[in-house]
Amino acid sequence: MSERTIKRIAIKVGTSSVTYKNGKINIGAIEKLVRLIADLKNRDIEVVLISSGAIGIGASKLGISGKPKTVRERQAAAAVGQCALMDLYDKLFSEYGYTIGQLLLTKDIADVDTKRQNAKNSFFTLLDYNVVPIVNENDAISTAEIGISNFGDNDALSAFVAVLSECDTLCIMTDRDGLYDCDPTKNENARIISVVPEINDEIKAHCGISVSGVGTGGMITKVHAAEVATAAGIDTYFINSQRADELYNIVEGKAFIGTFFPKKD
Ligand code: GLU
Repeated sequence: MSERTIKRIAIKVGTSSVTYKNGKINIGAIEKLVRLIADLKNRDIEVVLISSGAIGIGASKLGISGKPKTVRERQAAAAVGQCALMDLYDKLFSEYGYTIGQLLLTKDIADVDTKRQNAKNSFFTLLDYNVVPIVNENDAISTAEIGISNFGDNDALSAFVAVLSECDTLCIMTDRDGLYDCDPTKNENARIISVVPEINDEIKAHCGISVSGVGTGGMITKVHAAEVATAAGIDTYFINSQRADELYNIVEGKAFIGTFFPKKD
């Protein structure tokens, strides 16, 4: 297989990929991710990073154990955790000579043309300046519970961002090796589905309900994101965040551990 021509990739990492179960930052995991992204940038691949973790990290800093239960607590945790997350990204990316920019989005951007164009301009200008845009939902002010429609999970956000910023590829990093044909925690014969040419009801049925303790989405929201992205002409991959280096294999057109959803023509 020849090298894939990826020019601009959106990479999404979930809370379980950037934090420990106690909510504290997984510095080692973020270091590996930043190193990988810096290396992709060195290959002239533009990267947009969609990173979760704000609420989990903020909750741990505020001494809230487990997921914050009230909207107010989640908002406060997001405000606190987002700073800590970006501080670490800034520090690590600058070690490799890259600058980051933070974009906190709200769902109305998807619904209102002028706001969408405005966000698009922001992405394109950051990319023109060789900046790595790092995106999250603006959880401190946007929650469905207070009557503001929201993306709800960063899987949906990642597909929206990939389309908005005109990426040709979306890579969703998760705590599984890919999409399995049955639950790998219950069936030792479970196999990764390596290519999904068509996202249909059978594929959705393979998702089950797998939400990690700290995360929000599970497999079904990831498959929905793949559906949106591939329909918009974006090749989509699921890989395990602990095997983030699989992205090198993807870029180089080699076999990789994960699931590939080819774009629709
Ligand atoms: N935006 C949330 C956060 O940063 C994560 C949402 C999700 O888990 O998908 O904590």
